[in-house]
Amino acid sequence: MKIIVLPGDGIGPETMAATVSVLEAASSRYKLGLELETDLAGLDSLKRHGATVTPALLEKVKKADGLMLGPMSTFDMKDESKGEINPSKFFRKSLDLYANIRPSRTYPGMPARLGEFDLVVVRENTEGFYSDRNVESGSSEMLITPDVAISLRRITRPCCERIARAAFELAMTRNKHVSIVHKANVLKIADGMFIDICHEVGREFPQVKVDDFIVDAMMAHVVRAPQRFDVIVTTNMFGDILSDLTAELSGSLGLGGSLNAGDQYAMGQAAHGSAPDIAGQDIANPFSLVLSAAMLLAWHARKTGQAQYQTAADAIFNGVAAAIESKEATRDVGGTLGTAETGRLLSKRIAQEH
Ligand code: NAD
Repeated sequence: MKIIVLPGDGIGPETMAATVSVLEAASSRYKLGLELETDLAGLDSLKRHGATVTPALLEKVKKADGLMLGPMSTFDMKDESKGEINPSKFFRKSLDLYANIRPSRTYPGMPARLGEFDLVVVRENTEGFYSDRNVESGSSEMLITPDVAISLRRITRPCCERIARAAFELAMTRNKHVSIVHKANVLKIADGMFIDICHEVGREFPQVKVDDFIVDAMMAHVVRAPQRFDVIVTTNMFGDILSDLTAELSGSLGLGGSLNAGDQYAMGQAAHGSAPDIAGQDIANPFSLVLSAAMLLAWHARKTGQAQYQTAADAIFNGVAAAIESKEATRDVGGTLGTAETGRLLSKRIAQEH
């Protein structure tokens, strides 16, 4: 399996270095023969190549078996004509990575402030309110006069259908419960369509229990009792917001692993951003990116039928849980270690796994 590794901005180089060491340990322990090729994306690529991402990089990614994308300082990428392209958008759109799978769970050894839970947010990734990716070219956000701005939201049947199917298929491997999150009381047409299609797809999965929640009320429900949820399916922006909340409720945003998956390609990417407030201090939690890498290995196992990638992914998931329980972790999750040492000890744990 060849993976292109793009460390990214802010804390990206630190958390990606830890992730690469864990992948290398898993590769030698489980004989994966991983080939990890590091390249540039983000602000360093802007300086070197005049663009945060390039067509040549995309071609390289398309020939590989997977991509690990580090966090990007997307707030600083304002003008595409100057090469300031949001790399998340670029890869999600170019590779049609329509399903953003964002699990959140509590861990033994960490205080579960709201009780134990284990849920997954399944977020539509290619349209919705994200104006830089819901049109063929240009942007669906415009300045009509100096004082009037409009952002258009796009919801389509095919995108609703495929994200709903991804959610129900995932629920079949878990606790067989899908919760649809929407704002159909206000966005009656677009989110009305989203709910209807989710229920329609749900009828193909009669074993799965289905309910639905208005997004604002959902914030209260998920804080009140996160353990009542299993798989939550929602549109792009709601899923982005909700999954940061569920990651933090599980203990830290630094535990928010995520996979962006399409039918052909997949990209591991932490749920959080480049965290410039803690960059370069060796305190960022690498587990979100490490968990994302494990999700990429598990995706490759399902795609190719090669079980050793699933075994390696499980070893990483279990290794992270064991590291948190024994406090071999960063401060945000109750440990005392730096990013590099956390990665080193997890790699050692994986290498010695029986
Ligand atoms: P952020 O997600 O980077 O950080 C939010 C808070 O969580 C900060 O206090 C940060 O220190 C903390 N945090 C984040 N990751 C952590 C980790 N691994 N370990 C410990 N603490 C962690 O959000 P922000 O600061 O608002 O945004 C910073 C930049 O990231 C902006 O340019 C934004 O546009 C970008 N961003 C990128 C992505 C992405 O690449 N997918 C996602 C969100 C934000």
